[in-house]
Amino acid sequence: MRLPPENSVAIPMMRRAVELGINYFETSITYCQNRSEIQLGLALKGMRDDVYVSTKSHIHREGERGFRGISERDSTGEDVKSNLEESLHKLGTDRVDFYQFHGFTLENLPVAMAEDGPLDALKAAKDKGLIGHIGFTSHDTPANIIKILDTGEFESMTVYYNLLQMERRGRGELEKLVSAIEHARKLGVGVIVMGPLGGGILGTPIEKLRDLIPSTSNQVELAFRYLLSIPGVTTPISGMTRMSDVEENARIASEYEPLSTDELARIEAIIGRYSSLLARFCTGCGYCQPCPSGVRIPEIFNLVNFYRVYEVGDWARQGYEQLQSSRFHGSADLCIECGACEEKCPQKISIRDELKKAHTLLTKAS
Ligand code: SF4
Ligand code: SF4
Repeated sequence: MRLPPENSVAIPMMRRAVELGINYFETSITYCQNRSEIQLGLALKGMRDDVYVSTKSHIHREGERGFRGISERDSTGEDVKSNLEESLHKLGTDRVDFYQFHGFTLENLPVAMAEDGPLDALKAAKDKGLIGHIGFTSHDTPANIIKILDTGEFESMTVYYNLLQMERRGRGELEKLVSAIEHARKLGVGVIVMGPLGGGILGTPIEKLRDLIPSTSNQVELAFRYLLSIPGVTTPISGMTRMSDVEENARIASEYEPLSTDELARIEAIIGRYSSLLARFCTGCGYCQPCPSGVRIPEIFNLVNFYRVYEVGDWARQGYEQLQSSRFHGSADLCIECGACEEKCPQKISIRDELKKAHTLLTKAS
């Protein structure tokens, strides 16, 4: 997802990663303006059998906002089959080891499981040897992820989790994603964790987290050690943009030692204090979504939260810039002030006013 555009930079990075023992490469039909799969295919020439390749595509419900706008109909088995063929072609391979529904939700489960629908298409592809394992990636609540897992249809899941997300509030109750990871482990489902560095926030030193460091050499190492210490996490995936990221991540994984119970308890206590500060404003429950104008309220307020609590202004501004420029847009200035979201917010947040403040805060020069 974060590959540099120049093949002369990206390809040596990936080949060096294989040399260092990194053996799981995750891409998507859409990453890097559709070029990520092509670059990965070029990089793996002669090395394809040394690694696992994972790719993915979205499925949508009729009326759902997707990366090509509002969907006019539910996704079909033919859509998924055609996406898979395109991915295999771009990757220059005859099979992928993992194929995942991208950004999957419990709401989309009926679409996936429709007769002769997307899941049936993937099972047929698996029978033909085009896919090794069927999985999903998701930002849904832990409770919903557990329901998806309980269908027994999936062999891998990719979820967003990191040190700073130790506790997530969702749907009004405190939920731990770790419970969904544990559930997956019991079912024998492989768990891949995306966002180990919180979209880059843990890649820059945070003064308030200095107390966490003594047992390890730096914040990045701590973030990876934390994830690798969770039973059930099969592998973290990290978007890398520079050769030094590849070298550093491989070093950390090679020298990895699990955190002790005492270390984990200390970290949980410190992060827990900050988590409760984060939840005082917007809890990220998502009740206010979807917004008719596509404003991504929970993500915007999440940036504001982290800006205030961890004092990471540059990171928050960059995140907002991405929100303004991404396919899904979703920045605060799209708000038409209809007020629909405020009726649904359990925290009684004056969302319209807070969005204006957020836009000013996140667009001001540093
Ligand atoms: S008030 Fe703004 S953010 Fe809220 S639902 Fe309406 S357009 Fe979306
Ligand atoms: S603004 Fe309110 S409804 Fe929306 S995510 Fe935050 S707390 Fe939940």
